[in-house]
Amino acid sequence: MKVAQLFGNQIELRELDKVTLSNRKGAIVKVLGCGLCGSDIVKFRHGLAEDGTVLGHEIVAIIEEINSDTSFKKGDRIVCSHHIPCFECHYCRGGSYSMCKHFKKTNIVPGGFSQYVYLSEEHLKNVAYKVPDSMPDEEISFYEPLGCCIRAVERAALNKGDNVLVIGLGSIGILMGQALKAYGMNVYGCDLMQERIDLASTKGITAFNSSDVEYSHEYIYKETNDIGVDCVFMTSGADAAIPLALKTVRNGGKILVFSSTPKDFGYANNDIYYRELTVMGSYSPHPNDLKKSFELLTSSQVDVKNLSTDYILDDIVKAFDDTIKNKILKAYIKIGD
Ligand SMILES: [Zn+2]
Ligand SMILES: [Zn+2]
Repeated sequence: MKVAQLFGNQIELRELDKVTLSNRKGAIVKVLGCGLCGSDIVKFRHGLAEDGTVLGHEIVAIIEEINSDTSFKKGDRIVCSHHIPCFECHYCRGGSYSMCKHFKKTNIVPGGFSQYVYLSEEHLKNVAYKVPDSMPDEEISFYEPLGCCIRAVERAALNKGDNVLVIGLGSIGILMGQALKAYGMNVYGCDLMQERIDLASTKGITAFNSSDVEYSHEYIYKETNDIGVDCVFMTSGADAAIPLALKTVRNGGKILVFSSTPKDFGYANNDIYYRELTVMGSYSPHPNDLKKSFELLTSSQVDVKNLSTDYILDDIVKAFDDTIKNKILKAYIKIGD
């Protein structure tokens, strides 16, 4: 089977032996396609994964062989994510599911950028869904990334009607904005790229250009009766997003960190103290967040049309390149035969 493997920060297409079910529980699936995640980009750019790693985890696939107690059958088209919490450890009991050791260890084998993948019984039971016929592969591939956004929205624990600002309107920012709308928030979004602002505006987000921090501050204050937004969602990985967040969040508000930044510098201690700010991180979804994501996508409450660009597996290096250069919002790698 053909796979894309990472060696340092080089991606190579190789032939590996096809994964087999043998006597295991679970399923062998034929991958139709897999979304290229921001976390794949980080591992690629900084050579963070072990040599031979097959990246990709946002798969849409057809079940080819199955030995399972679930109701999935051979021929089902499914969507599946990669990590599952143990539900029992100290982290899980404390609600920190994505910090669970089992969560970090579980994965699809060998990875999504492969013609075939092995899914364990645990995957089938907790994080896999049969896709309705009417739903295109590219659209349902947003299941895992939207699940991450829902986790963030849930963690922020806001009230319906709250004002929120999403900083960064890449594919994740646009998903986050729509997830927030689905939860009843009043959503503002900002970016520096006009085409992203325009696209976000077509998805129900009140979007503006944030190149001028003072203007952004004034605009948000005017819109919120001189209070500021209740929560800022940081989907941008730019260092400049941090001062912007501090300028637009209300006193007593929250900043939800959803991206790494190059310089890795922090939020000012005295802002957090005197303004009673809550700065919190959100990383990866619980199975319930994924369930909600599947519902929002299949009921079209979150609209992902025109968010992704298709590539074939042979062109995966170009897909990484185009994403890094901001030529596209999100790459979807078609795999198939
Ligand atoms: Zn992802
Ligand atoms: Zn656990």
